[in-house]
Amino acid sequence: MRLSSLASPSGGGGPIQKRDAIGTREWLLELLLPQRCVVCGAGGSQLCPRCRDGLPRLEGPLCARCGAPTAWPVARCSECAGRRLAFAQARAAVEYDDAVRAVVSAWKERGLRTLAREAARLVYETVPRPDALALTFIPPDGDRSVKRGHHPAERLADGLAERWQLPVRPLLARAREVRRQRGLPLAERRRNVRGAFRARRKPPAAVVLVDDVYTSGATVGAAASALRAAGARRVDVVTFARVVR
Ligand SMILES: [Zn+2]
Ligand SMILES: [Zn+2]
Repeated sequence: MRLSSLASPSGGGGPIQKRDAIGTREWLLELLLPQRCVVCGAGGSQLCPRCRDGLPRLEGPLCARCGAPTAWPVARCSECAGRRLAFAQARAAVEYDDAVRAVVSAWKERGLRTLAREAARLVYETVPRPDALALTFIPPDGDRSVKRGHHPAERLADGLAERWQLPVRPLLARAREVRRQRGLPLAERRRNVRGAFRARRKPPAAVVLVDDVYTSGATVGAAASALRAAGARRVDVVTFARVVR
């Protein structure tokens, strides 16, 4: 083990230190437990090089607006044409297939730091850095099963902050509880999350909004609306994965 890898990613005092103490305990556990690839089960690491390289990257032509893969570059696609979107652009590193689903759920349920780091690296390799002043993330919902420190959106924002040299600002809060989005039709998803977020403080003019998975764009759209209403002029959405229809 390299000594440099023992250094805490972010030093400092106050609440950050407290969060790190929790993170360090998890991280030590991760070091002690045998490592298995969450996709294929091979021993050695949480995401083996073969599975990592096999994740379906979104590198081809995309819709300039919502990031859906398209046959050739387009300004708007069938998925987002005619919709009022509060964000300027959405980009993701990989398509949400079965392997990516396994990565995201292991990351969510077990808070695996190595996977958070890998996800940040994949985004960094695939998505150009947006021209922004800060990163923020979709705040966790009231779901108690998401333990403190296991929140993928926040972990991903932390990982990207280092690489993109941008500060992470917790700008958003949940304004109310929403029903689970899973299983709801698209129009219903949008209605369900409308007004679900509020800005906790005034955002900078240009913000990157981070989430783990872009499904219909309804959640990030509602969060981007809250940021825009609070004064952000441009919101770029960046996620690890994207559902492709
Ligand atoms: Zn594997
Ligand atoms: Zn589109």
